Amino acid sequence: MRIDVFTIFPAMVDAFAGQSLLGRARAAGVLDVRVHDLRSATTDPHRSVDDAPFGGGAGMVLMPGPIFEVVDRERPPRPLLYLSPAGRRLDQTLAHELAAMGGFSLLCGRYEGVDERVRRHLVDGEVSIGDYVLAGGEVAAMVVLEAVGRLVPGVLGNEDSVAEESFADGLLEHPQYTRPAEFRGWPVPEVLRSGDHARIARWRRAQALARTVRCRPDLIEARGGLSEDERRLLAELDG
Ligand code: SAM
Repeated sequence: MRIDVFTIFPAMVDAFAGQSLLGRARAAGVLDVRVHDLRSATTDPHRSVDDAPFGGGAGMVLMPGPIFEVVDRERPPRPLLYLSPAGRRLDQTLAHELAAMGGFSLLCGRYEGVDERVRRHLVDGEVSIGDYVLAGGEVAAMVVLEAVGRLVPGVLGNEDSVAEESFADGLLEHPQYTRPAEFRGWPVPEVLRSGDHARIARWRRAQALARTVRCRPDLIEARGGLSEDERRLLAELDG
């Protein structure tokens, strides 16, 4: 899986992609993350990548020239996705879609964003990480890198954790406990220490349902409500 990132702050993204899970996957050759400096195509002594907006107004805009040149030169994997508040909102479904591709690329904006011709004639789509405005696309690129990277086969040590975690089945994850069995008077639920795997699985499913009903009823609605079995399971938990 190859992911190219275009930014005016390559060191920021490169350092992030060199650590922890992504760093190990990169070193093992499972993930090929290439970070490109948009300033590398500039020719003036100031290495300018931005200019004032036509029509006036606050801030600066990233010029199309350096962006088109670096992208043409590097021939990155497509789709090339511009990180932008106007884009498709990143969620686990989109992360899975991206992880299933052989590769893709990310373009980070800065200042007031990129010249409109980049959006219209260079990129293939736009991705947002949420309804708020960041100062640049770098943090958003890191979020995409991590959310997608950990879904690429061979990146996580234990592939089961992806199958069982939040959103995998349209539900939030069940509660997790580790040692000690009792902490400050709060014991770990007895069922988890019973060794009865069928009972544990049933309890976890019921807990995941209850947590999703409580914290994210919209997710329950999106999967068409609760089935009869699920209602029974929740009733067991209450009883
Ligand atoms: N003037 C732009 C607007 O009103 O939509 C905001 C520009 S923002 C200050 C600078 C850059 O940060 C954007 O070009 C984009 O790459 C990135 N960015 C900001 N918010 C983002 C978000 N929610 N998701 C993804 N990227 C974002």
